[in-house]
Amino acid sequence: MHRSCYKGTLRKRAEDVAEAPARRYIPLMLDVPTLSIVLAPAPILKRPARAVRNEDYETVRALVPRMFATMYQAPGIGLAAPQVGVGLRVAVVDLKPEEKPSPIVLINPEVVATSTEMVTREEGCLSLPNQYAEVTRPARVKVRFFDLDGRSQEIEAEGLLSACLQHEIDHLNGILFIDYLSPLKRNIILRRLAKEQRQKQSR
Ligand SMILES: [Zn+2]
Repeated sequence: MHRSCYKGTLRKRAEDVAEAPARRYIPLMLDVPTLSIVLAPAPILKRPARAVRNEDYETVRALVPRMFATMYQAPGIGLAAPQVGVGLRVAVVDLKPEEKPSPIVLINPEVVATSTEMVTREEGCLSLPNQYAEVTRPARVKVRFFDLDGRSQEIEAEGLLSACLQHEIDHLNGILFIDYLSPLKRNIILRRLAKEQRQKQSR
């Protein structure tokens, strides 16, 4: 149940939200313009993003608040830079446990360990609005990344946060949740999305 990664009712469970040392408060009412979200099957969503280098940090610091504003407005709980047309390894996540903002900025994130236990959840994606499917992923992950201050951080996550982190890191590798489905299911979703978008435009 996401609203970016997944849509629907977000179940708030303490175990869904690991303590993230990298949390840096980014106000909910962000006085910055939102960005437009790129929809599948745009080519940028299929291309691996490039690593953020030191000289990119200024760009990233300007981009991140706009990504949060875009994600909160959608509303979503995760957004990766390629989804706003930027091919950099940056993603933002906020599950808002107990409705409190809890933003996480992931720069050059990497999954460094996964559980052998797998779990299936329904996923959706802001780049595939209104489309949902069950995806099976490792239940728990350890993710290493850099924060906005360039410090190395680690999160161990389970539940919704684990799935969301994996979903966002996939985006940075040019992978969408529909890539885990059979070609048949994937094509049904892509055709349905294209049809819905055509109907929306003709309205
Ligand atoms: Zn997504």
